[in-house]
Amino acid sequence: MSTKPLFIVVSAPSGCGKSTLIDMLLQEYSDIVYSISCTTREPRGEEEDGLDYHFKTKERFEELIAENAFIEYANVHGNYYGTLKAPIEEVLAEGNSMIMDIDVQGAAKVREYVRSLPNTDPMKIGYVDIFIMPPSMEELRRRLEGRGTDSQAVIEKRLANAEGEMERAGEYMYKVTNDDLGHAYKRLCDLIDALSGRM
Ligand code: 5GP
Repeated sequence: MSTKPLFIVVSAPSGCGKSTLIDMLLQEYSDIVYSISCTTREPRGEEEDGLDYHFKTKERFEELIAENAFIEYANVHGNYYGTLKAPIEEVLAEGNSMIMDIDVQGAAKVREYVRSLPNTDPMKIGYVDIFIMPPSMEELRRRLEGRGTDSQAVIEKRLANAEGEMERAGEYMYKVTNDDLGHAYKRLCDLIDALSGRM
């Protein structure tokens, strides 16, 4: 079945289940490709080049900036992070969809970039952005505390960040509340199916 190639941008505060939802989509939809960012930071632990990130030297990253190769990039804690234009163009040209996971600041840059494109550009034609919401701040706190991976100070920082990010949820075309993982996943699939013309 031929479907419309989508360029799907997903953001969510930490603890909203965004990575889980994206992993579920990637498992089920063989025509959705995950956008792998470039970074100049060192690989951590088991991270693999070309799988978790495309690891680049600072020199190479700056060359790519000069070549206008990124749709957006940022400097986070002294390291560059960015999304290359070419892989997205290639995936869409093959008739597949690209999904990218990015914070609200990065998403705003992507949105601005996409707006600047001609209306005939596949990235603009297929563009959709989705914000994953927690059911409430109380529930988000419970989830972050329940993970048991972060100190109380880190949790407070994540919650403060989440409030700031949620204030920008209105910039997104669609919002999906992760009250229950199965329900949220179903809503996400329904949305993608409708937008790509699968039904
Ligand atoms: P980490 O080093 O922990 O993998 O990521 C650090 C930060 O960089 C995270 O907030 C992550 O969202 C952000 N990041 C990862 N990839 C990109 C990207 O392609 N563009 C931008 N702007 N930020 C990114």
